[in-house]
Amino acid sequence: MEENLEKNIQHKVAIVTGGSRGIGAEIVKTLSQNCYIVILNYNKSKELAEKIAQDYKNIYPFKADISNYSEVQALVDFTIKKFNHIDLLVNNAGIDLVKTINDTSIEDFDNIMKTNLYSAFYSSKEVSKYMINQKFGNIINISSIWGLIGASCEMAYSVSKAGLDAMTKSLAKELGLSNIRVNSIAPGIIDTEMNSFLSEQEKTNLLNEVPVKKIGLPSDIAKCILFLEKNSYITGQIIQINGGWNI
Ligand code: NAP
Repeated sequence: MEENLEKNIQHKVAIVTGGSRGIGAEIVKTLSQNCYIVILNYNKSKELAEKIAQDYKNIYPFKADISNYSEVQALVDFTIKKFNHIDLLVNNAGIDLVKTINDTSIEDFDNIMKTNLYSAFYSSKEVSKYMINQKFGNIINISSIWGLIGASCEMAYSVSKAGLDAMTKSLAKELGLSNIRVNSIAPGIIDTEMNSFLSEQEKTNLLNEVPVKKIGLPSDIAKCILFLEKNSYITGQIIQINGGWNI
């Protein structure tokens, strides 16, 4: 089975960073259900990654700390050696930091930038080499509403996501000629562990500002991955999925 997949150049291949939990896990499952081979990148959640690979078809867990360039190189090398091509890169892995500027240390800022922004530079740099040669590719960055409007006490996070959106637009211009599309999805509040620090009262307060009065689901983001994958005339866009939060 595996050997057939490796030889079948027609089978679409995706890398999803941070595919072990939350939004990334849902993207991995959705791609698997839509005939993709998925390289599921994880860092700490090995068991969760392996469980998804057991339950869904054509999923290959690969451990890499995406804030480390050589580990990202290993992730892309593994994919190319095994499957010879790469159709879709989803830069999803990310971490949050809720601190005032005064409490944000230099190490905090570095860590957020390395994990949320440098990581996407590393993976896009590695993957685009192959995408340019094959004259096809799709890169989707998961940014955030905070990259667009800024969040109080989440300055480092907001800056990292704004940087990601700028990367999306620059690379869309640079790589369009090679038939490579680059887009961002900017979620509002989505029901994952990333928001587990919010109290019920804080969630209620947030929802007062969201016109549809509900928290989004990881599947709302995963559906948009398929939408972007299928629409070959969309590039350089920041697609907001936030229940109308910032209108
Ligand atoms: P989550 O539930 O906390 O999951 C984070 C994922 O990122 C995990 O799979 C984790 O993998 C991975 N990750 C973190 N650091 C990593 C590293 N150094 N190397 C490799 N993987 C790493 O978060 P989420 O809510 O699904 O968020 C996914 C993306 O959506 C993030 O970029 C986030 O900023 C963005 N987003 C989320 C929301 C929201 O409301 N949830 C809103 C806007 C944007 P391991 O557990 O294996 O380490």
